[in-house]
Amino acid sequence: MTTPSELLITARWVLRGPRGLRLPHGGVLLRDSVVAAVGPAAEVAAMAGPAATRLVYPHGTVLPGFVDGHVHLSLDGGEDPVDALLRSGPAALEAGVAERARLLLSTGVTTVRDLGDRADAAVRLRDEISAGALPGPRILAASAPLTPPGGHCWFLGGEVSGDQEILAKVRRNAAAGADVIKVMASGGYITAGGAEMRESQFDERQLGLIVAEAGRFGLPVAAHAHGIASIVAAANAGVRTVEHCLWLDEDDRVTRPEKHVRALAEQGIAACCTVSGHDWRRKVETEGEAAARAFYGRIGWMHERGVPLIVGTDAGIHAAVFDDFVGTLELYEWLGFSAEAIVELATAESARLLGIGDRTGQLTPGYRADLVVVDGDPLTDLSALRAVRLVVANGRSRAPAGLPPEAGR
Ligand SMILES: [Zn+2]
Repeated sequence: MTTPSELLITARWVLRGPRGLRLPHGGVLLRDSVVAAVGPAAEVAAMAGPAATRLVYPHGTVLPGFVDGHVHLSLDGGEDPVDALLRSGPAALEAGVAERARLLLSTGVTTVRDLGDRADAAVRLRDEISAGALPGPRILAASAPLTPPGGHCWFLGGEVSGDQEILAKVRRNAAAGADVIKVMASGGYITAGGAEMRESQFDERQLGLIVAEAGRFGLPVAAHAHGIASIVAAANAGVRTVEHCLWLDEDDRVTRPEKHVRALAEQGIAACCTVSGHDWRRKVETEGEAAARAFYGRIGWMHERGVPLIVGTDAGIHAAVFDDFVGTLELYEWLGFSAEAIVELATAESARLLGIGDRTGQLTPGYRADLVVVDGDPLTDLSALRAVRLVVANGRSRAPAGLPPEAGR
């Protein structure tokens, strides 16, 4: 019989995930890959065995690992990610997805949802990470997103035409091990020659077919949707999440249709309004404060009306890098969300909405050992989340380069 490996972390603050649960001078005991105890430091320390590794952060905060609900590990986040993808062979793609997963992990992200890869690269990486062969966050992978021929992100390999191909692609992705089915319900801006962002690519009946077929495999559906018509059709069809959710009208204006947002809230359909740290800051600088508030203010508007929100960076698309998760959280701060609400959104709430809230997103006994330690107190200064000292994902710990953990016994 092997003795379990124990890691005891004590810190000035422990944030448990859901808001209101902040412990001063707290401790977290990890036993193998599971949270064994959380509480006052002395109490938790008394539960640790003599062989436990002990890490002490007198000025630090322990909190659950972050959840990034929308990334594309197959894309490099550079000047022209689509071109780079189309030029890269299988080996380069495999090396690229592994490196990007490592970057995400270094910033404290311990779960990601990959909403569209190529050649099942993220699906395979998921299995390697969960087997412990490579470092990285837990991955929920969609495989290739369904799109019409030549439609948004056709180059990821998910083109379908007609009901039979739609059903076959859902079955194919399920068989390949997808955790979620992604459909491009509207056009998007990164695909030259495809549908306009506001235009629907599938009608409500087709989206319903996708939801029903995915349901046979127990899989939720995530719908990329910018236009009002595509968002409404996706919601009526019963998708689990709406990605981007711009509410574009026929004239390409970002709108706030009260009737439709209420329907989303009543059905409990979550919105993942992706934005990168680079993008929102650039919008403020180039278009001005008022224009940026009109655009991003829809996020707070949806939140106030009861639409559940998932945090997502869209890392992989142009200028959306893999090591700036906090840059996205800072948008929420700029929008007026409290630091406590932001931490909850980025951990417990996003995990819950992705269907894994029973195993990650909280520091609770029995949960997976997914956590991050930062210097300082993020509830008084959100930028403390940038000072990552230690990340533990599924029980495997790593200190970001150049920042050795403070060890003490
Ligand atoms: Zn995306």
